[in-house]
Amino acid sequence: MQNSMMHLPLVIGSLADHVERFHAATEVVSVETTGEVTRTGWGAVIGNARRLASALEMHGVMQGDRCGTIAWNTRRHLEIYFGVSGGGMVCHTLNPRLAAEQLVYIVNDARDRVLFIDRGFVPTIAGLIDQMPTVKMVVMMGARDEALAAQLDGLQFYDELIAQGDAAFQWPQIAETEPSSLCYTSGTTGHPKGVLYTHRSTLLHTLAGNSPDGLALSARDSVMPAVPMFHVNAWGVPYIAAAVGAKLVLPGPKLDGESLARLIAAERVSLALGVPTVWLGLLQGLEATGADVSCLKRAMVGGTALPPSMIAEFRDRYGVDLVHLWGMTETSPLGTVNQLLQKHVALPPEAQAERRLAQGRPPYGVQLRLVDSAGHVLPHDGVTQGELQIRGHWIVDTYYNKDRSALTFDGWFDTGDIATIDPDGYMVIRDRSKDIIKSGGEWISTVELENIAIAHPAVANAAAIAARHPKWDERPVVIVQRHLRMEVSEEEILACYKGKVPNWQIPDRVLFIDNLPLGATGKVVKARLRELYGEVLMPETAEAEPA
Ligand code: ADP
Repeated sequence: MQNSMMHLPLVIGSLADHVERFHAATEVVSVETTGEVTRTGWGAVIGNARRLASALEMHGVMQGDRCGTIAWNTRRHLEIYFGVSGGGMVCHTLNPRLAAEQLVYIVNDARDRVLFIDRGFVPTIAGLIDQMPTVKMVVMMGARDEALAAQLDGLQFYDELIAQGDAAFQWPQIAETEPSSLCYTSGTTGHPKGVLYTHRSTLLHTLAGNSPDGLALSARDSVMPAVPMFHVNAWGVPYIAAAVGAKLVLPGPKLDGESLARLIAAERVSLALGVPTVWLGLLQGLEATGADVSCLKRAMVGGTALPPSMIAEFRDRYGVDLVHLWGMTETSPLGTVNQLLQKHVALPPEAQAERRLAQGRPPYGVQLRLVDSAGHVLPHDGVTQGELQIRGHWIVDTYYNKDRSALTFDGWFDTGDIATIDPDGYMVIRDRSKDIIKSGGEWISTVELENIAIAHPAVANAAAIAARHPKWDERPVVIVQRHLRMEVSEEEILACYKGKVPNWQIPDRVLFIDNLPLGATGKVVKARLRELYGEVLMPETAEAEPA
């Protein structure tokens, strides 16, 4: 039977063709690792991506080969995204903050053939290259620099490499089911695992994730991913921005509040994306700089739960709508986005804010369900908590280099999160299953305890952990980081819990720390806090504790 409709493969090359043809002049602004701000357009970015793909081909890089990146959010990184994937190779983003041992593990697991690195990482890679036998080519993402060339034998320079390439290079024809990019989970427990995205999964994520109730980016937006390009492809923003032709503002290595506040004001950023710690920093940066960020309309927040106090602060002081997202490396990452339904529009702002604390609803293409520990499916009543499972067009099936499917017997992926889902489909993450506090057989949500502490004006950030307890197995302890030069006592924080949670959920202790340990993607490393404070409630430790 003849096809009744055209069948064109969903491939990243087609996205590059589109943005080059229809949005060539739309700006791409990049803060380089040198601090310099460069300004090009989508046309120039894709031209360089073509040059890169053809140069890699000339150097014998084959389709399907993994090309690693160790880099911040810059224009060259964007060109690599499109050039490598468009050219049929796999763009493998690595997290620069990983320990050397993990970098080596991941490069070897991925069998990366090429590494593209920012200038600051040349010494690290020079010290590790002997342990990375599959890497045949290391490319510093910049112009030639003799001092760097002297540090690593055979180091190539990106600007010279692409100068050898052809700006009219045509993307090879590849099947949409071929891999396009690779990203590893952060591996806080055990070895990191690779998730290999396909062209098709990426394109479907791009199209569905950008629906009006999703990220809703348009050609009128100036969008700044303050989420790194190595954190699940900057949540898909480079692809989405290309699909709609949005102005893209790449903030480089500096994600501190003051740098971001200035960049938002200078580039009239209308939409920004990042983890809550970045937005906590931005609030302080706005205060310090007094930058005019009236251009900023929306900020998308995900990665960890959005502290409720932030919604009101952004809304009332800066007119910014915080939109909550949830996802993970295994889900490309968009799993849910929180936008209101028609029936919520007339609600007063406080009631709307309450609604928006949920992690959101799934876009078309993603299905969610809750199950109990025996695998029985639970109701979506907004109350029953269960393990959150997901399936859809951009959800992992099998981890990279693994033979066994990562799915349940009936084809769902278990997220490791504990959640509720209400009858309208709003999902709320109650905790990660490895973080939740199990006190005398009952569960206590660390997220809820943290939100209460963070709402105190002297608290910069807070993390709740399960501390071992002789009678209740585990009890909550909250670790608080105070704002600079602000004081607050344990009693004052504990008083905040009265009436907000049942008495038995009130933390046993509040401890203070100068800086909460943050992982490479800006999330608090609770495993480290459990190591430090997990025993404070045990009699022998409590007695040994200094007064
Ligand atoms: P990791 O946190 O291990 O580095 P990911 O970046 O893939 O890896 O994170 C996925 C996890 O992050 C989710 O399973 C969930 O626990 C947490 N997460 C992501 N977004 C949110 C959110 N909006 N609220 C609460 N938790 C979130």
